[in-house]
Amino acid sequence: MRVARFAGDDDPRFGLIGDDGGVPTVAVLKGDPLYAGIEFTGEKIPLDDVRLLAPVIPRSKVVCIGKNYAAHAAEMGGEAPAEPLLFLKPNTAVIGPGEPIFYPSQSEDVHFEGELAVVIGRICRDVSPTDAAKVIFGYTVANDVTARDLQRSDGQWARAKGFDTFCPLGPWIETDLDVDDLSITTTLNGETKQQGSTADLIHKIPDLIAYISAAMTLLPGDVILTGTPEGVGPMEVGDEVSVTIEGLGTLTNRVVDRD
Ligand code: MG
Repeated sequence: MRVARFAGDDDPRFGLIGDDGGVPTVAVLKGDPLYAGIEFTGEKIPLDDVRLLAPVIPRSKVVCIGKNYAAHAAEMGGEAPAEPLLFLKPNTAVIGPGEPIFYPSQSEDVHFEGELAVVIGRICRDVSPTDAAKVIFGYTVANDVTARDLQRSDGQWARAKGFDTFCPLGPWIETDLDVDDLSITTTLNGETKQQGSTADLIHKIPDLIAYISAAMTLLPGDVILTGTPEGVGPMEVGDEVSVTIEGLGTLTNRVVDRD
């Protein structure tokens, strides 16, 4: 199923993306399916009439994996680390499809990084790779927006990766997806910049969940960004960036000046 979160009159609402006589619709749910299960209100809204939001606001953290594709590690000027390289983005960085990425005044080199994201479905720690599937709620598309100059000058990546709006997620969560070999494409103003496949992930998702959960408890709604393929590059104010993952969908955002 495809779980969407969308703007309501007051609070965000949740629904399942479906089809009503050829018209894409959202079947509205009574609550957040991460916590409340699947219970329909009976209301259906055409998808074109809703404003999609980030499909999840991570309960506590976005855990990201650096250099998890060999070709990207090479373009960054090195080899991929033997063990997964972890860093965090704050949940305040998350925005949804169509929302603006703010270009911070502190940077002159803001990059896109298209990535497959994993949404955790239940509280867990010390998960074995063979049990990892049990703690996955679903998958979505992410853009690990990065101030590359600050990443280099700071040493630590918290600021460079953690600006408000630097973690677009969406357009929805797909819960039934074989992620072993999915194409990932990033376009900038319609021009293809990244073209990779999740088949080339060095550390696979079950191993990542085991590695992360051996260090920190994961909560429902936490998100893991699995790394970006080669082809990262700069975005300028006014650019439109889209990340598409096969079988999942397209996440599009525009870069805007904060002022
Ligand atoms: Mg990344």
